[in-house]
Amino acid sequence: MEKIVLASHNPHKIREVRAILAPLKIEVLGATDVGVPDVAETGKTFAENALIKARHAHQATGLPALSDDSGLCICALNNAPGLFSARFAAQNGGYPAVFEVIKHLLRDKTDKSAFFFCQMALVWGNKEKDYALFEGQIDGTITDYPQGLEGFGYDPIFIPQGFGAPIATLPASIKNTLSHRAKALAAVVTFLKTHSALGK
Ligand code: IMP
Repeated sequence: MEKIVLASHNPHKIREVRAILAPLKIEVLGATDVGVPDVAETGKTFAENALIKARHAHQATGLPALSDDSGLCICALNNAPGLFSARFAAQNGGYPAVFEVIKHLLRDKTDKSAFFFCQMALVWGNKEKDYALFEGQIDGTITDYPQGLEGFGYDPIFIPQGFGAPIATLPASIKNTLSHRAKALAAVVTFLKTHSALGK
């Protein structure tokens, strides 16, 4: 079995990535499992942050490292909280308190459209060019009425396009086929099948 370190301490992200990569016989180690400390996310874009995290995890472990920098982008708020989704939640009382803040920010807006964006970076060596970037997006709308206990983060207020209820009401097996993370990972999987990034 190939080993890859996911440059994240977020147990929800690790669980989702593990579930999606399991059929490929790739063992996903969380940053905590292999003692990778947190690194400051000083990038100005999802891609910069994803590369910072993956390079840091690769340097700390010598293993191929995958990172996920993701967030909720609300169109009527100029795509905020976006890159700052985790910090925005933390600064506003966490979940579910932040849902009330978003409801208030959107109270006069007719456009409730939003999307989750996921940028992944895979780093497999120390040379500047030893990386690849992948992205995924899922479109939907924000609801004032949080619902569901599945998933994590903003899932209770995000209704994916084509669905009638928030993504937190869907089982992981469904979220993991349609989410921003699932789409980015599908691109990673295609890359891994055609390249030797894991030393195959
Ligand atoms: P990061 O760890 O800096 O990439 O922050 C990601 C943040 O974006 C999470 O802490 C959540 O607030 C939000 N987020 C990303 N993906 C999801 C998801 O699948 N569901 C709900 N919230 C998400």
